[in-house]
Amino acid sequence: MARYQPHKNLLVGRTILVTGASDGIGRVAAITYAQHGADVLLLGRDRKKLEAVNDEITSATATSPLIIPFDLAKLHAQSETVLTDSLRDAIQQLDGILHNASLLGSKVPVAHYPSNEWESVMHVNVTAAFLLTKALLPALEKSSDASVIFTSSGVGRKGRAFWGAYAVSKFATEGMMEVLADELSDTNIRVNSLNPGGTRTTMRASAYPAEDPMTLPTPQEHMPLYLYLIGPDSRGVNGKKFDASSWDGS
Ligand code: NAP
Repeated sequence: MARYQPHKNLLVGRTILVTGASDGIGRVAAITYAQHGADVLLLGRDRKKLEAVNDEITSATATSPLIIPFDLAKLHAQSETVLTDSLRDAIQQLDGILHNASLLGSKVPVAHYPSNEWESVMHVNVTAAFLLTKALLPALEKSSDASVIFTSSGVGRKGRAFWGAYAVSKFATEGMMEVLADELSDTNIRVNSLNPGGTRTTMRASAYPAEDPMTLPTPQEHMPLYLYLIGPDSRGVNGKKFDASSWDGS
């Protein structure tokens, strides 16, 4: 159990973008950030699911969430401006991004990995996060204390058979975090990665269909670390790799 005790108003006055906010860890993180005062931008590909998260937030908090129905598979250099211009119109500044949306893809040997699926997984998990970050850096620069979190995985730190493009994309995610953290080390923007570890979600159930989900921690159990990294208490922490399963909150 993490010792970190976030203040209930930890994120008041902050605007935070959460990708993959319609389900799983991203949904819980978005709601938790709003419960701590943040205005959250909810990005996901399913409008109905996003509206349900939006309703949950507006009925329980005084914050102003905004839904951004957008399929990151369709985010390309050409479409980047459409998304980011509308985001920039909606917000003055951006105080945080939780890059959380990911595709799992097939769990098969590299020899049999479908090439088109490889490209989709790499695009959603890596290229879309790069395009979003690049386009939103000017909005992050306007914040006096901005945090970017990239979501990693155990297989993004130690490769494992049959994890294919997902594992490779998470290694790339870690690389992107390190490069960006180094480039921004003298700025107001910190960049870190977070591996939630095995967590009770749809993605985990797809990856391990025989596993009993009740043996896994829920997304809620990881929220102290998600709050610590996105909020002011992690000011000065940059370029670090976090593991929710071993973080002791100190
Ligand atoms: P999840 O339950 O599958 O949720 C993924 C979220 O990403 C959903 O909101 C999903 O939208 C969204 N998403 C997927 N593709 C998208 C796209 N093309 N455009 C926009 N949104 C898209 O996954 P999770 O388990 O919560 O995982 C969250 C993060 O933690 C991921 O980065 C994952 O790699 C990482 N992680 C998870 C575990 C685990 O055990 N759960 C372990 C290690 C790392 P839909 O609602 O439309 O599907």
